Amino acid sequence: MRNRLVAGNWKMNKTPAQTDVFINRFLELVDSNHAAEILLLPPFTSLDWAGKLLAAVGISLGAQDLYFEPGGPFTGEISTEMLLACHCSYVLVGHSERRTILNENETLVNRKVLAATASGIRPILCVGETLTEHQQRKARERICFQLEHGLAGMDQQDAASVVIAYEPLWAIGTGETASAQAAQETINMIRKWLAVAYDDSLSRRIRILYGGSVNPENTAALLDQPDIDGVLVGGASLSPETFAQIANCAGQSAT
Ligand code: PEP
Repeated sequence: MRNRLVAGNWKMNKTPAQTDVFINRFLELVDSNHAAEILLLPPFTSLDWAGKLLAAVGISLGAQDLYFEPGGPFTGEISTEMLLACHCSYVLVGHSERRTILNENETLVNRKVLAATASGIRPILCVGETLTEHQQRKARERICFQLEHGLAGMDQQDAASVVIAYEPLWAIGTGETASAQAAQETINMIRKWLAVAYDDSLSRRIRILYGGSVNPENTAALLDQPDIDGVLVGGASLSPETFAQIANCAGQSAT
């Protein structure tokens, strides 16, 4: 049985003081016995503060990126040791904004996935097609390519700790969501790819999220789909009210 995961990617938003305000308000609104796992992904500068606030309340913490080297002359980068010191248990890897704006390639994404897993932090590997690929019906090709390279060199045990996030680029921050049925079809295709690359048991165990303009109105339909195990939420995770509605909806449909 795969446990639902509702992740909020704050991107480059919220200072530690704003993080404090968000978390205190969110805790007032979210069901205290929420059935889904809730994960916050604040910017690096808020991780330490968020980690202290979240440690006692059963909400998971993750980072939006990492560097694969353990330390040294890598100006501006953050290691897994630093993330662990802030109580991070997850890290996003290969988010489309990093792939497109910062030119992260498949080799770098793969190194980050391997480094996260080796440290005990669960990577959330983001995959998804561009609008052009979507229109040209090349989504499957793009996603399989990203999976093959992103998970290269991972054995069965390590792969089991990975979460996959399917995020079509044309749906991120645009207000356009893939229909629940279309998201289900793609995520089912990812599960089948995992069954071939590893085996059926891993394919059934691994959690796969949908991301791209998720909001309180479309969450239930997405989570009703048999292969969608949770949501990765950007814009709608910035408001404690909206994110709590999404988390509560996921918690209800998980029971
Ligand atoms: C994201 O950035 O991962 C994302 C899904 O953003 P949004 O929900 O704003 O589309």
